[in-house]
Amino acid sequence: MTRPYLGNPKNTIEVLQKYGFVFQKRFGQNFLIDTHVLEKIIKASEITKDDFVLEIGPGIGTMTQYLAEAAGQVAAVEIDNALIPILEDTLKEWNNVTVIHGDILKTDIQKLAMEKNQGRPIKVVANLPYYITTPIIMGLFESHVPVESVTVMVQKEVADRMQTGPGSKDYGALSLAVQYYARPEIVANVPPNCFMPRPKVGSAVICLRKYEEPPVQVKNEKLMFRLIRASFNQRRKTLVNSLKNSPELSYSKEQVEQAIAECGFSQNIRGEALALEQFAALANALADIG
Ligand code: SAM
Repeated sequence: MTRPYLGNPKNTIEVLQKYGFVFQKRFGQNFLIDTHVLEKIIKASEITKDDFVLEIGPGIGTMTQYLAEAAGQVAAVEIDNALIPILEDTLKEWNNVTVIHGDILKTDIQKLAMEKNQGRPIKVVANLPYYITTPIIMGLFESHVPVESVTVMVQKEVADRMQTGPGSKDYGALSLAVQYYARPEIVANVPPNCFMPRPKVGSAVICLRKYEEPPVQVKNEKLMFRLIRASFNQRRKTLVNSLKNSPELSYSKEQVEQAIAECGFSQNIRGEALALEQFAALANALADIG
C-alpha cells in the first residue's frame, strides 16, 4: 500500500468496516474520498517541511496522512471519541503527528503554537464541520493566535460570502470580518460526491492568507465591527436608521448624520453599499465624535 493510502474510497470503506464506525451527524462528519481534492488542498496551503500544521477534525485521518507527508509537524484535534483508536491505527506510519482528543472551540491554540512551534505562525488546514465554520474561523483570527494561513473546506455558499464585496447579495458581516484579517481565495469547488456520506450542499476550498497588518487603519476595531453588525442586521434600512436603532450603539441621529457627511457619503446610503475602507472611515469619524 503506497502512502498516503486513505482518500481512496475502497481503503476508507475498509477502515470504516474494520471498526464498525457509525457517522455522527451532530459532528458534521463528511469524510473526503477524492485524492484529487486532497492534493489540491495540500498544494493551495503551500505547506513545507518547515511548517507546523493544525488540522481541525481529522476524521479517520484521510487528510492527516497527506499533511504528515508534506509538513514538519501536524497536530490534529478531534472531538469524536470513537475516532481516536482509528486515528492511532491509520496514522501509525507517521511519527510527526500528534492527535489531540478535544473540542477545537475549547482548545488553547495559542498554547499549542507556543509548545509545538515556539510561537511562530502556524498553518491551519481542515475539512471543517459545517455547523461551526464561522466560530472556528473568527476564533482563529480574533484571538490573535499566530496564524499564517487558514485553508479550509466549507459550504460553497459560506466561501462565496467570505470572498465577495458590496453589490452582491452574499455580502455581509462575515465578508468584512474575514477581509479585515485575511486575503480570501477560493481554490476549488467540490461537489457532494467527493464525500462519504454526501452532504446536501456543494462545498468549496478557500484559502485565507492572513495580513501582517490589516488593510485599513481603524482607531477602534470593536466600534467598526459594531457598525458592521448594525448595518447588516437591518440591511434594507438606510445606514442612518440602522445605526441609530442599534442596541449596541448610542449615537444620536444627528451624530450619525454628521459622521456620514464627514465621510462624504450620501445620507440615504445603505450599509450594504459600503466597502471595508468606508466602514473604517465611518468608525474613525464616529470615534472622534464621542
Ligand atoms: N478531515 C476528515 C476528512 O476530510 O475526511 C473529516 C472531516 S469532517 C467534515 C469534520 C470532522 O470534524 C469530523 O471528524 C468531526 O468529528 C470533527 N469535529 C466536529 N466538531 C468538532 C469540534 N468541535 N472539535 C474538533 N473536531 C470536531
